[in-house]
Amino acid sequence: MSYKLESPHSFRESQFEPHDSYDQNRSPIMAFYGNQLVISQSGNFYHKFMDLDGLSTGETLFVGKLDGQSCFAIELFDLQEHLKPVPLRNYLNDDYETFSRASRGLQLIDWDRNHRFCGACGAQTERGKTEWVRFCPECDHRVYPRLSPSVIMAIRKGDSILLAQRPQATSDYYTVLAGFVEPGESAEHAVRREVWEEAKLEITNLRYFESQPWPFPGQLLFGFLADYQSGKLVPDESELLNAGWFDYRNLPEHPRMNTIAGRLIAQTVAEIEAEK
Ligand SMILES: [Zn+2]
Repeated sequence: MSYKLESPHSFRESQFEPHDSYDQNRSPIMAFYGNQLVISQSGNFYHKFMDLDGLSTGETLFVGKLDGQSCFAIELFDLQEHLKPVPLRNYLNDDYETFSRASRGLQLIDWDRNHRFCGACGAQTERGKTEWVRFCPECDHRVYPRLSPSVIMAIRKGDSILLAQRPQATSDYYTVLAGFVEPGESAEHAVRREVWEEAKLEITNLRYFESQPWPFPGQLLFGFLADYQSGKLVPDESELLNAGWFDYRNLPEHPRMNTIAGRLIAQTVAEIEAEK
């Protein structure tokens, strides 16, 4: 049984349009307030420009094309009664498509607002006209939207899966191990290092599974499956709480299938069951 989930965001037409090429009356625009998505009273997350009239905003940013129509994002600095900010995570469970599209908008907005000055010489940067780039007119330093590659991995030992709670998590869920890829590392190396650092375990049979964008703020998670090889579990308690090997028939509360963590766990369970 396969649990692969295609990314449903449908900005498939990738050609770039200028950030100011919007149509005041027709272009759909996503609005963000801080790191929250702003929805209308009726729950719609695409606005028209006229709905945002009179608000203090950042500059309009081209996000991509949906069904042939250019779609934009904008940052709001104030709100009106008919607009309601909601955390992006609210959509993760029930509406992955909205989550996925909005996370693209938010990541581009986040990159744009955090690179207004050149990191090399301090001059004010400008937006590129043909691609998503901010460039420095003084020294030509260029900054593209930034992603942080991370790894996330399900480790299996016989009929059990290694799970733990995360000290910084927003839920009590038990989940799989994860961590950032460091400079100079392959994703595979990062998996082995993280498993060693966080649990003092060696792994084998390491296999790539699938990836998922994770906009908190700009992670791209690469999922792996692996088998336990050796070592006694010694969790790093600054990273893992209540870590342990959990029998696949009796797993604690864990992430759902719309997250790569949930699909890694489900895939491991499916592989164990297939051997029975
Ligand atoms: Zn510069």
